[in-house]
Amino acid sequence: MATAPNSQNRFDALIIGAGFAGMYQLHLLRERLGLNVRVLEAGDGVGGTWYWNRYPGARCDTESHAYCFTFSKDLYLGWEWSERYPQQPEIVRYMNYAADKLDLRKDIQFNTRVSGAEWDEAAGVWRVRTEAGQDFSASFLITAVGCLSAANVPDFKGRDGFKGQWYHTGSWPHEGVDFTGKRVGLIGTGSTGVQATPVIAETAAHLTVFQRTPNYSVPAHNKPLKPEFQEWTKANFEKIRHDMKSTPAGHPFYIDDRLAVETPVDERERLLEAAWKVGGMQFRAVFKDLMLDVDANKIVADFVTRKIRETVKDPETAAKLTAFDHHYSTKRPIIDSQYFEAYNRDNVSLVDVKAAPIQEITPDGIRTADGVEHKLDIIIFATGYDGVTGPLLRLNIKGRDGLGLNQVWKDGPKTYLGLQVAGFPNLFTITGPQSPSVLTNMPVAIEQHAEWIADAIAHMRANGKVRVEPQADVMNAWGEKVQEAANATLLITAKSSWYLGANVPGKPRAFLAWAGGMARYRDICDDVAAKGYEGFAFA
Ligand code: NAP
Repeated sequence: MATAPNSQNRFDALIIGAGFAGMYQLHLLRERLGLNVRVLEAGDGVGGTWYWNRYPGARCDTESHAYCFTFSKDLYLGWEWSERYPQQPEIVRYMNYAADKLDLRKDIQFNTRVSGAEWDEAAGVWRVRTEAGQDFSASFLITAVGCLSAANVPDFKGRDGFKGQWYHTGSWPHEGVDFTGKRVGLIGTGSTGVQATPVIAETAAHLTVFQRTPNYSVPAHNKPLKPEFQEWTKANFEKIRHDMKSTPAGHPFYIDDRLAVETPVDERERLLEAAWKVGGMQFRAVFKDLMLDVDANKIVADFVTRKIRETVKDPETAAKLTAFDHHYSTKRPIIDSQYFEAYNRDNVSLVDVKAAPIQEITPDGIRTADGVEHKLDIIIFATGYDGVTGPLLRLNIKGRDGLGLNQVWKDGPKTYLGLQVAGFPNLFTITGPQSPSVLTNMPVAIEQHAEWIADAIAHMRANGKVRVEPQADVMNAWGEKVQEAANATLLITAKSSWYLGANVPGKPRAFLAWAGGMARYRDICDDVAAKGYEGFAFA
């Protein structure tokens, strides 16, 4: 960071990323506070995660009418979703609509990947460098890089010698991939693999799915939205918004008050069948004790297992698909469209790579530990992400005295409210670790963070303050609260979950998000602000 930035590259605030978070933060800082802001975005368009995730079947699990900005009624009313769950291209179209309507593009620099950021204590600014060698500086640095943008591509022996094509789902070719007549191998059965499987199976000559850990999934029941429903969402904007802000996961539906363990068997079965018909994320709203009580969880898990076994015709495949190592919904819950049905096709097979792990990628395919070589033309890595901390650590951020964020987080993330880190003045991390982030409907968490950050900066300006960072002891105490919140749920029991960092070799095990609920978190943040930003030190 030796080069001094020229005056044109000096801003009040720099935002990294032009997904939901970067777009709304730009809007707020520019329109509400009148700041001079620049967004740096690696892609050549807005969309963030959705700009990159163009794999077959990519669709959001949140229902369309709740997967959007709700800070502006005008913006909400001006858009019409076509299906119950929005498909990737429709989400990108929506985000372009929002960018146009809010006139955001003029302050976003596309095709610009940040390679480093360092706090300059003497000047009181962040110095930011891009891969292309451009330098920027700003009083505030706000990361809006998403939680699932740093790909986890296992370093299998022989990967680069593969004669066919291989892709990670998170950086899918914009021109698409033609599977016609191809033998395709798909590694990974998380949300992505489950979405991609039935779609790839439609055109591939053969699809081999390599499964390490099976996952529960419930039907999404996607469908075109009827005009009556579209009108209903518009007429009920305030209610939908209110409900999204009031619920633990930011969805516009409430979890039932019933306890599974106290509901008679017949009634339980009737309720589960009804919830199964509704499908999607709402399935989990059926009982209040689902995530709190092992016995309650088992009731639901057994029901889902039974449904999967009824769907998959080959008993051996069904057994592999239901050899679960975790309680239901303790890893990121999955919803699907014809995933289990895909295994009834002649051109789809399942390989259990827990029993016989992938040993190497050969020029012609994948060899597993049982000595079998699976011949393939295309390999797809649906192997997930270095979640939540990964996107931040790869920015190469250095705080006061050159202290690296990677040093501070070597044993797991440390933050105050997931918003700031001691030693990193004026750095804000939207949906950062230890905030609700991935446990919520993301636009809800994003709007709350962006608004809180804008309010905090406004507070500083009103009070003549130029620097803010959390007190170290307060930050550490927040870490303990995050752990307690996770311990109070069954989430903490899923030892192979990426929520705990278990999917990335060498990553410290720490629960990455605040599991105490979005509504409660909002109250905590509001309370901190009301008490003069208690726990933060201003200069
Ligand atoms: P993921 O949930 O982390 O799943 C990755 C899969 O790859 C797992 O099955 C994992 O097995 C497997 N895997 C990883 N390394 C492997 C290896 N070395 N050998 C064999 N298998 C390996 O990733 P994802 O499916 O991309 O989803 C990540 C998150 O993105 C989701 O949890 C969700 O939050 C979000 N997402 C959302 C949507 C949506 O809203 N519709 C769609 C896609 C993704 P193990 O389980 O054994 O580790």
